[in-house]
Amino acid sequence: MAKEARKLVTLECTVCKSRNYHTEKRLKGQGVIARLEFSKYCSVCKKRAPHKETK
Ligand SMILES: [Zn+2]
Repeated sequence: MAKEARKLVTLECTVCKSRNYHTEKRLKGQGVIARLEFSKYCSVCKKRAPHKETK
């Protein structure tokens, strides 16, 4: 069984700093992104805002 290197990351709104989303990130292999960033709807800002990975 192949062991996948995955990490649970939290996505934080860059506008209000609230942590709205959780996602999984691949740590090895192809498609590895050093720093995740998604445009997501923030319920605090009441609009779409860039969400970045936090530690
Ligand atoms: Zn926000």
